[in-house]
Amino acid sequence: MKKNDWLPLARKLDWKFKYVTEAEVFPPQMSGTPWLKHHDWKQWEEPYKTTYSEYVRGQAAKDAGLDAMREAVGNSEHYKTLSPAWLNSLKLYGATFPLAEFAATIGNLRACRFARDSAWRMSACFGALDEFRHTQIPLLLMQDLVKIDGQFDWTQRFYHTNNWVAIAARHLVDELLLTSNPIEFAIATNFVFETGFTNLQFVGLASLAQGVGDKMFEKMVKSIQSDESRHAQIGPAVMKILVQHDKEYAQFLLDKWFWRSWLLFAVVTGFSMDYFTPLEHRKQSFKEFMEEWVLKQFLGTLDRFGLKKPWYWDQFLQATENYHHMVYASAYTYRATVWFDFVVPGPEERKWLKEKYPGSWPAYEPIWDRISECWRESDPGNDLAVHGTAIVTFCELCQLVLSNGTPNQNSACESVYQGKKHIFCSEPCRRIFEAEPERYCDHKDVVNRVLTGEAPANVVALIRRYFGLDYDTWGKDVYQGQYAWNPADKKGGDR
Ligand code: MN
Ligand code: MN
Repeated sequence: MKKNDWLPLARKLDWKFKYVTEAEVFPPQMSGTPWLKHHDWKQWEEPYKTTYSEYVRGQAAKDAGLDAMREAVGNSEHYKTLSPAWLNSLKLYGATFPLAEFAATIGNLRACRFARDSAWRMSACFGALDEFRHTQIPLLLMQDLVKIDGQFDWTQRFYHTNNWVAIAARHLVDELLLTSNPIEFAIATNFVFETGFTNLQFVGLASLAQGVGDKMFEKMVKSIQSDESRHAQIGPAVMKILVQHDKEYAQFLLDKWFWRSWLLFAVVTGFSMDYFTPLEHRKQSFKEFMEEWVLKQFLGTLDRFGLKKPWYWDQFLQATENYHHMVYASAYTYRATVWFDFVVPGPEERKWLKEKYPGSWPAYEPIWDRISECWRESDPGNDLAVHGTAIVTFCELCQLVLSNGTPNQNSACESVYQGKKHIFCSEPCRRIFEAEPERYCDHKDVVNRVLTGEAPANVVALIRRYFGLDYDTWGKDVYQGQYAWNPADKKGGDR
């Protein structure tokens, strides 16, 4: 039989239950709310329809393409020819994405069983297979690189540690991917994360990888994105029905997950685009990629559903000019607390950043002036000479350092819940917490872990014993602070 003769029937295999009620088969705790009868979901339709045999054939061809590329350029010799600054994009991606993709397998599998229409469940089943692929491919490719650089071992290790970035990433991933019901998963993951944001990392960053000469990364993320764009269509299909029945909830989920996703991509993609990509290979700034993929394309999607921009839109626009610069500067001065290395933007990079961020960059100049000055005055090669020593404070929602706002005005704020004071990096994080405080209030951030004796208070002990790093793997300045444009002040400084 031809596909079109049988697929329309096979996609829709829902039936009436005789011995149990629909609510027993699809309890709201597992299937999500608003809880509607199947009658209301049966118009659910994915625009791109596929069969299992088509799926398998297509995926096998993609994997063959990747194998051929791995054969040609996947070896460690090739990686030694790439910019050492760029490699940190891979370390950041390798640690934060592959095992989160595995969590997305689980989120999809829940939808596979508890989503409310059979076509939706089948699409989620393909999504689960996709996400498992997105776990395996980078784990395999990054494993090859461990022998050239032990920091790549964090591809496997990261989510199994109590590193502060891992605590933040788990806080997001646990909620977004592991515990979401199929409705929240479809809006948060398929609609916001995969329709709005993954293009930044998988299309935008892939185009930079091409310039850098990292063909393997380019091929890998493009291959991953081809799956994402297929299963992301679950999101708009669910959104279409959700807005008809509970538009307010749809807007709530959109506002919440747009902000949470933004913070993650600002760090992972923002650092890679504006700091780790060598200047000669930069095409657009992170903000320009945001404008293209998120502001233009995604906002158009919101319009189609009659949804509004998130309420914090002005704060978000200000954050696109500042947030990743704030976190990068802050993380640079605490680089031994992470598993990848950093670079100081030199005069040429700073000129470029000023052109791209005319309204915000001048406020960052004094920070980098001061860091450059510290390097000039320190002993060559003493990486910890230019490093913070006190434990910093974290947001109790996103678990990242309190680095929202601008260098002149940090936007940290507080909220009291059940007599306990909580601190947040920004108003959106505070309001997300306040909307579902019981969901978040028992989570301990790093500072609370120190205060309760779970984690050591001394920074070096914290890094070694709690974050799981040692001298070989912790983050350093890629060039040990020795830049031709920043010669040492010291007499006899031989660099
Ligand atoms: Mn994926
Ligand atoms: Mn996905």
